[in-house]
Amino acid sequence: MTTCLIRNANVFAPEALGRRDLVVGGGKLLWIGEDASKAGIGLPETDVIELQGRRLLPGFIDGHAHLTGGGGEAGAHTRVPPVPLSRFTLAGVTSVVGVLGTDDTTRSPRDLVATVNGLRNEGLNAWAHTGGYHLPVATLTGSVRDDIAFIDAFIGVGELAICDHRSSQPTLDELLRVASDAHVGGLLTGKAGILHLHLGDGPRGLSLVREALAISELPARVFNPTHINRRKGLFEEALALAHQGCWVDITAFPVDEGEDAWTADEALLRYLDSGAPAGRVTISSDGGGCLPHFDAEGRVARMDVGSPSSLAETLRALLLRGQPMERVLPAFTSNAADLLRLRDKGRVAVGAAADYTILDEEHRVSDVMLGGRWHVRAGEAKIRGMFEESR
Ligand code: ZN
Repeated sequence: MTTCLIRNANVFAPEALGRRDLVVGGGKLLWIGEDASKAGIGLPETDVIELQGRRLLPGFIDGHAHLTGGGGEAGAHTRVPPVPLSRFTLAGVTSVVGVLGTDDTTRSPRDLVATVNGLRNEGLNAWAHTGGYHLPVATLTGSVRDDIAFIDAFIGVGELAICDHRSSQPTLDELLRVASDAHVGGLLTGKAGILHLHLGDGPRGLSLVREALAISELPARVFNPTHINRRKGLFEEALALAHQGCWVDITAFPVDEGEDAWTADEALLRYLDSGAPAGRVTISSDGGGCLPHFDAEGRVARMDVGSPSSLAETLRALLLRGQPMERVLPAFTSNAADLLRLRDKGRVAVGAAADYTILDEEHRVSDVMLGGRWHVRAGEAKIRGMFEESR
């Protein structure tokens, strides 16, 4: 077993641990302490990496990315291609959850599972939600519960769309049925068992979720709204739901000057300052998804593509604003691990996966270890996906 000794890391676990040495082997953290040489840690065939006090973080968990590529909302030529491995690793993302979006018609859960398996073969930690925007839910086995119970890749359902002109206009009963299938699938397997909800710009906002919580026995954690920062009023509704027990997800999309939306860094600070539970907020990239801007007729006026790098850019923006790392980092790491029940991810801990993102002095991702292997060194991808151009 080749082991790796990482010396003099300034570790955020996500809590601040200070200067530590770490010994990694078999894809996991074997030992962490102040000084490996004093502790008499002597291992054969050990690679030694000296970090000189650079910051070592748990790898980011991106709970919402369009692995197969999203889009297609302005015709078939606008279907976004799949996101290759190094787009994640170069951005410090070591775990990802894939979703189908608007297009659960020409794209399918089969394609999504195959894409997850491909990324896993290349070393990334990857899962997915079954379904897409619409009802009836696009599944692989014919049932949400069976998909979660029998398909290893599937951990929940979504992104089911509400308050959006692209949604199936689900009723309360329909929403509850899908949520209960996700919840029971989670119970049977120990997986997340969540209903990940795409929120649109519609004025109904989160009213359907409030009604669901009021009349059903389902735990609040099952309802997991995303894109909560796309409208300022919607964001306030999401804060109230977090107090009721929902995990809420901020999307790191670009926000135009004067737009009725919060950037991800601003939204996270507003969330934390509001006194909402600090453990129930996550940030995801919407990577590989298209970011269409619609006109009043529902036509696409302009199209952007989301990138996994928006997570690292958001963390950097927060650090440049003077935020303490330990305050903001859980939203990128441990909070998502808790919601998604990824038990050995999202933290720097003995026995947990050795998935680490290392930042340089400018708060940029410099090195990434994934399952004990260096995927990125000094900002360069050392491991690339099968059909990525090698530079
Ligand atoms: Zn969405």
